[in-house]
Amino acid sequence: MSDNMFDKIEQARLNELHIKCDPDTQLKAFIAIHNTRLGPAIGGCRCIPYSDEASAIEDAIRLAKGMSYKAALAQLPYGGGKAVLMCPQHIVDRQIYFERFGEFVASLGGRYITSVDCGTGIDDMDAIARATDFVVGTHQDGCDPSPMTALGVLKGIEAAVNFKLNKANLNDVHIALQGVGHVGMALAELLAQKGARLSIADINQQALKTCQTRFDADIVSPDEIASLECDVFSPCGLGGTLNKNSLKQLHCKIVAGSANNQLADESLGHILHNKGILYAPDFIINAGGLIQVALYKLGRNAVEVKQKTLTIGHTLTKVFARSYSENKPCNEIANAMAEEILYGPVNNEILDEKTYRQAI
Ligand code: NAD
Repeated sequence: MSDNMFDKIEQARLNELHIKCDPDTQLKAFIAIHNTRLGPAIGGCRCIPYSDEASAIEDAIRLAKGMSYKAALAQLPYGGGKAVLMCPQHIVDRQIYFERFGEFVASLGGRYITSVDCGTGIDDMDAIARATDFVVGTHQDGCDPSPMTALGVLKGIEAAVNFKLNKANLNDVHIALQGVGHVGMALAELLAQKGARLSIADINQQALKTCQTRFDADIVSPDEIASLECDVFSPCGLGGTLNKNSLKQLHCKIVAGSANNQLADESLGHILHNKGILYAPDFIINAGGLIQVALYKLGRNAVEVKQKTLTIGHTLTKVFARSYSENKPCNEIANAMAEEILYGPVNNEILDEKTYRQAI
């Protein structure tokens, strides 16, 4: 275990870290619960190989914190949590492996609710559901978050274009889309409907062909998409695309996409800000999927999910305005706004007892 694990826990203000080891199935799992001030912790279950326990724990802490901030700014009665499973080379029986993980989730009595993340799928959620009710995204609930994530990103792009380019619509706005998977493809469709001009990069040739035929998109190589001269660069593939090198190449006015952890390092927000590029913080713009999962858990209907997702644009406009008036990077402002909710005076609008109980 890492020497400075407790330092990392303290720095991230993580509330709880739970550990489960089941030699029969080779399950080695961590559940990090960051903050439950607003409600039970919610967040996906990641199952990927890790080189050691320390990096798995670090990932769990960082991701759980991100979920707290995301839920807070989406005004949901949930806290942030994440499960990290150190995926073995070979899972002998995947059903039993995830059932055991479900027992681990059940043992926390509803303090953590799990869902799909990298390396897990709907079948895994079904297996977890055999052991606990604290799971969303099974075949039975049919909760696919990607279309709602795409809708939230569309609203975020519209808000950013309105703020930065003073344009009330996306007609002829040039958008460079990096990654057209579950979210990116749905977003491309929405953007095309709004009259945007699309340049698209992906490593999946079939997806590119679809975009060419359906949206009349220009195809760009994955190495060139981030440096394309355009209005909006929209990272919807892997995280960490905004690093010191790629920031030098950017020729866009706005960065707004679905990918998690777009900034390789939080300090890079200053570079974007100083270059005059408006950045829509990832954990706000990509909250549509979480809104769907969370409201589904509360028994709310599709109309309410959509209404709440549409508010992502308003939240981002507040961030942009505050960034402008305080002359600070958007990611810094977004973090401060989340921390005001998580650690500031109690906000009764969010924290009501009845909603908290329903959330579990
Ligand atoms: P996905 O795996 O379906 O799609 C990712 C796409 O990126 C794929 O088409 C892949 O081929 C492409 N890609 C990979 N490497 C690339 C490269 N070098 N250049 C260009 N394209 C590349 O994932 P997704 O569910 O669409 O999620 C996309 C991003 O949004 C991820 O970062 C994810 O964490 C984040 N996110 C997704 C959701 C959701 O509801 N699915 C919610 C919040 C955040």
